[in-house]
Amino acid sequence: MSSTEITPVQLRGNDGKIADGKLYATRYDTGDRLRRALLRLVLLWGLARVSLFIPLAHFVLVPGFLIAGPVVAVLAYRSSQARDRADGKCPQCGEEIIIKLEARDEIPKWTYCPACNAALQIMESN
Ligand SMILES: [Zn+2]
Repeated sequence: MSSTEITPVQLRGNDGKIADGKLYATRYDTGDRLRRALLRLVLLWGLARVSLFIPLAHFVLVPGFLIAGPVVAVLAYRSSQARDRADGKCPQCGEEIIIKLEARDEIPKWTYCPACNAALQIMESN
């Protein structure tokens, strides 16, 4: 089962103003990671099979998908968590904001306030 993990973070503006925020991440257990890895392997090998019937392109696509399958599966198996989003009050404009994160984003991370476009840094709170 995957679970959502919420950790406190700080949103810091360029001028050093700080506001509290929360970071949401999805945490995967071993069964989940295995399921995610197998899903990707099956999907990519399925694409390899389908691209067998595309003239000329199959010279590139079939080996490409066959190799990408295990690579992507291993990457999926190794990642135990996926960052989802951070929310909080923008230290610059005071708006409640939600910052969408990439699964592999690391904290601290520089980003922009979606409301006022000010540069913000998401930092671990201590
Ligand atoms: Zn703002």
